Amino acid sequence: MTARLIDGKAVAAARRAALAERVAALPFRPALRVVRVGEDPASVVYVRNKDRAAQAAGLDSATIVLPEATTEAGLLATVAALNDDPAVDGILVQLPLPPHIRAEAVIAALDPAKDVDGFHPLNAGLLAMGRPALVPCTPQGVMILLRETGTPLAGARAVVLGRSQIVGRPMAQLLLGADCTVTLAHSRTRDLAAECRRADILVAAVGRAEMVRGDWIAPGATVIDVGINRLPDGRLVGDVAFAEAAAVAGAITPVPGGVGPMTIACLLENTVAAALARRATAA
Ligand code: NDP
Repeated sequence: MTARLIDGKAVAAARRAALAERVAALPFRPALRVVRVGEDPASVVYVRNKDRAAQAAGLDSATIVLPEATTEAGLLATVAALNDDPAVDGILVQLPLPPHIRAEAVIAALDPAKDVDGFHPLNAGLLAMGRPALVPCTPQGVMILLRETGTPLAGARAVVLGRSQIVGRPMAQLLLGADCTVTLAHSRTRDLAAECRRADILVAAVGRAEMVRGDWIAPGATVIDVGINRLPDGRLVGDVAFAEAAAVAGAITPVPGGVGPMTIACLLENTVAAALARRATAA
């Protein structure tokens, strides 16, 4: 391995500790409400981890669990109540939702000022206009890792693999905002390997185990692996073939312990930012 390991776990722990100090100095406790519908096993774990991290940072955190059979109208009523509750600063509806509920309708119903996931069309639109407000946590976490590791951004060629609303698209917007020259690649991209080889910064967010091979990577490139994939033998791997890539890259994130921990740290930071912004607006 020649690449420097980007230790997201350590960066996230430091940011969470710094945030806890800021929260302790506030005259109020920012409040986060996470809504989970049903018992999707991965969602159960993610929501529990978010709640624990929020508590550890000193936030007022609670999870609202609704049964799998909850209707879309029922979930919208829960969202409306949280929107209207002045004591609530941040609302997160854990995805995926059961198939009978339209996620877009639920996200659009959130108060954009409490949308700590940054998925509401208003927040997505502001980001696309270069006026970021509440920014999606995973791509925000990637930007922090790039900055923490001193990766030059202005003028760098950045390739983002994957164009989802929650990772790829906002990732491309943030990199553009940092003056990278951005290519947004996806399942219809011709010669993905050649596109990737041009990248100074490669962000993989496709959800395909070890799809990005060592010979897709330019020597010295910074490789950020957002993917979380479970292999049949139970191992967790990213979208990048780690050992091959680490032999070529200049710096690389591991899976687990790379981007994942940053997502939660950014959720907590967004909650505090939302709480402060709401109070500033109210004042
Ligand atoms: P989506 O399934 O929503 O999007 C995947 C994207 O990858 C799509 O744009 C799709 O293209 C593209 N894609 C799929 N297959 C290929 C292929 N063979 N070649 C090129 N592009 C392809 O996934 P998400 O964005 O939600 O998540 C991506 C990964 O990141 C997953 O592994 C997920 O678990 C992980 N993740 C990790 C987080 C973390 O905290 N670390 C948080 C969120 C996600 P098209 O649009 O053309 O279909």
